[in-house]
Amino acid sequence: MATAIIPGICELLVPIPYNPLENTNIYLLRGNDGYLLIDTGWNSDDSFRALGEELADAGADFKDIKQIVVTHAHFDHYGLTGRIHQLSKAKIYMHHMDEEIFRTRYAVTEEYMRQSEDWFYSNGVPRHEMPISRMSYGGPRATGLPQQPDVHLNGGETISTGIFNLKVIWTPGHSPGHICLYEPKHKLFFSGDHVLPVITPNISLPPGSPGNPLADFLKSLELVRNLDVTTVLPAHENIFHDLPKRVDEIIHHHEVRTDEILETLGTGAKTAYEISGFITWMPELGGVKFRNLMPGDQRSAVSETLAHLRAITVDGKVKVTTRNNVFYYQCT
Ligand SMILES: [Zn+2]
Ligand SMILES: [Zn+2]
Repeated sequence: MATAIIPGICELLVPIPYNPLENTNIYLLRGNDGYLLIDTGWNSDDSFRALGEELADAGADFKDIKQIVVTHAHFDHYGLTGRIHQLSKAKIYMHHMDEEIFRTRYAVTEEYMRQSEDWFYSNGVPRHEMPISRMSYGGPRATGLPQQPDVHLNGGETISTGIFNLKVIWTPGHSPGHICLYEPKHKLFFSGDHVLPVITPNISLPPGSPGNPLADFLKSLELVRNLDVTTVLPAHENIFHDLPKRVDEIIHHHEVRTDEILETLGTGAKTAYEISGFITWMPELGGVKFRNLMPGDQRSAVSETLAHLRAITVDGKVKVTTRNNVFYYQCT
């Protein structure tokens, strides 16, 4: 069921197959001559059909879509962009920093798979548990290179449709090119996966990355915390209103996790894989042990542990040593 948020803006639900998140929230904004879509949903026949039904429910059709703004290149946000473009020729906007994801997570070359496995091995994942490193690439997700964007955003642009003017805010962290959209006149904030009301978005260190995505994410949270906003429109879960409160909760969550990691390291040097076994995952669900996570979630868990370890290594709280080509972390 398409839900009217305010006159001219509807929320459409597009299912994500086999995922506890269930849906991606797609936002449809009415312009003077057609519509703007924020995110598109997972690339499957069922999701495509569902989006078509939601559009019809809102009084629109694929061919009426003139602009597609994608918050980030993950499959549940970018997946259907190509199919919609074929029917509408809509102009596609995405931040340029997420184009790397097309090369790694969409194209899935054997070389990248090998690099990824070596990376997990050097972070302590045993060879017999390598499904962890393969899991999130398999099956229907590997759909080949997606439709390229027409406009490569940097952040700071304004994208307009009808009475709405969306300010692009670059919020790296959950993905390198994640953007949020702020509509100051109506005090609306389209938060993508950057700020969600219940779950905390996964912050991963991609294989071989020299970056510090957790530090980027925390800075990006500070960047949006004090915007004059009355309604937050996230890409998953329900619409909510208190942006600063939720930002503070997410920052606190990462502080608790950092403390958990430092406490674990108090008993001696460990690999990222070993540390992942000591962390309480999914605290919003009451806490799940690493060994009880699905393999794809175990992969995300190790990558998120690595994002934390990178941040506290840069801060000087922890140092890395190498033994037999495996990285060990210990307190300084
Ligand atoms: Zn995402
Ligand atoms: Zn998502």
